[in-house]
Amino acid sequence: MCCAQSLKVNEVIRNRRLSLVRIISCQTEGCHLIDDWLKITQSLWQPWCLLCEQHQAEAHGVCSGCLADLPWLTAAHCPCCALPAAAGQLCGQCLQNPPAFDATQAVFRYDYPVAALLHAYKYQARLALAHNFASLMAEKLQLQTPVDCIIPMPLHRDRLRMRGFNQAAEIARLLARTLSVPVALQDCERVLATPPQVGLPLRQRSRNLRNAFVCKTRLDGRHVLLVDDVMTTGASLHALASCVKKAGAARVSCWVLARTHTN
Ligand SMILES: [Zn+2]
Ligand SMILES: [Zn+2]
Repeated sequence: MCCAQSLKVNEVIRNRRLSLVRIISCQTEGCHLIDDWLKITQSLWQPWCLLCEQHQAEAHGVCSGCLADLPWLTAAHCPCCALPAAAGQLCGQCLQNPPAFDATQAVFRYDYPVAALLHAYKYQARLALAHNFASLMAEKLQLQTPVDCIIPMPLHRDRLRMRGFNQAAEIARLLARTLSVPVALQDCERVLATPPQVGLPLRQRSRNLRNAFVCKTRLDGRHVLLVDDVMTTGASLHALASCVKKAGAARVSCWVLARTHTN
């Protein structure tokens, strides 16, 4: 927390303490003061909205106003890759080159402020956000058929060493607990450290990711749920889904927090 934020929080707490003192010292107003006192005491311990920091969080760490303004993925989209498409119809890209995964669901479009939250989560290690992301995914996304296991997008060990945690694995662990589905954190490994893929065409990205993953177990006949924070071109999820299907998986679904609008 920066100094300005810290000062703001201290000021709010000080004002609320003053309100408490005023209420306690005023004995003539009857029993409703006890209710007020309880409300204020409770409010001291409720978290603030992580976006506006001005209202109390009501769900998923944000206040109701900020929650309504989030870039929800509400427009009709392709059931396979979650790109905009006619409702329930596969997009042209999935018709021409079907990806290895069978379905994709995303909570948000990859826009502000979700993009900023994800940046803070990954690059400023605000790990607690994993709880908010996982609760949003568990509440907003629905599985068409039950899954047998969850596999998070693996990080290459060099990247893991640098970042200190795998952002997809943190979300997947929490989701697994909520959905009561086992999570396989070690079954798939990223064995190829790919250079940054930003700006590369999809075909080039897919070529770079060929053989990037290995699956160390058999998944015969299983329905596997792949979890990642963001889906951009879908090349990484396609490569991981191919690997999982080679290991025998019958169906692969993808859950991501946010999806970019275009590939
Ligand atoms: Zn808010
Ligand atoms: Zn599609």
